[in-house]
Amino acid sequence: MTTANGIRLVLFGPPGAGKGTQAQLLKESLGIEHVSSGDLFRHHLSNGTPLGELAQGYMNRGELVPDEVTIDMVIDRIDQISDADGFMLDGFPRNTNQAGALEAALRERGQRLDRVVHIQVEDGELIRRLSNRYVCRACQRPYARDAKTGAPPQKCAYCPDGGEIYQRDDDTEAAVANRLSVYHQETAPVLEFYRQRGLLADIPGEQPIDAVHHAVLRILDAAHAGAVSKS
Ligand code: AMP
Repeated sequence: MTTANGIRLVLFGPPGAGKGTQAQLLKESLGIEHVSSGDLFRHHLSNGTPLGELAQGYMNRGELVPDEVTIDMVIDRIDQISDADGFMLDGFPRNTNQAGALEAALRERGQRLDRVVHIQVEDGELIRRLSNRYVCRACQRPYARDAKTGAPPQKCAYCPDGGEIYQRDDDTEAAVANRLSVYHQETAPVLEFYRQRGLLADIPGEQPIDAVHHAVLRILDAAHAGAVSKS
């Protein structure tokens, strides 16, 4: 693919599937804007905004923040992105109401999604990944504990002044169990919503990060070719 300008994508999958990691790689290779609803909430939280205060309890318990605030927050962010840049959504939509609201908002703007990439990972592997996960407070890049020492890295290798590495409050055992159950009950039905629209592409997510990245690129290539041949 020569350019992915203008591509509109949803990175879909359970917590811990690697959506954020893949989004980072796609941003680096294709320059698509990354819109993570979880990162937007964490930004509000660290700035102490009323929205952050409202979201905090839901997030710590691993529950969904109410649609009334979530949808507006994400659509406002999408509105800041130029048509030419395109975007990839990560963590949104998380229920069929959000999926319908997104579809309607894009339709109003004369836009639509190009692809929904579903990264599939089994629960056991997700629990293992999330309980082992640390993130940079500044850039949200994920890290794992060192395989030999069991210790997380001290500082982010990518942030200029070495961002602080911490474990998210919602990566605790109880919150993770709740997030997975919310995923299966409320979020997984969104797959059917997109399957019916012919937008869904499944990728096995238990392969090496690079293999998943290349699988995503192949899917985007095919979506791009399809868009060109239709135009
Ligand atoms: P994430 O970083 O995507 O794992 O999201 C962290 C938390 O933010 C979730 O467990 C929810 O509490 C909240 N959140 C993120 N995205 C959404 C969404 N689309 N709808 C409702 N709550 C969300």
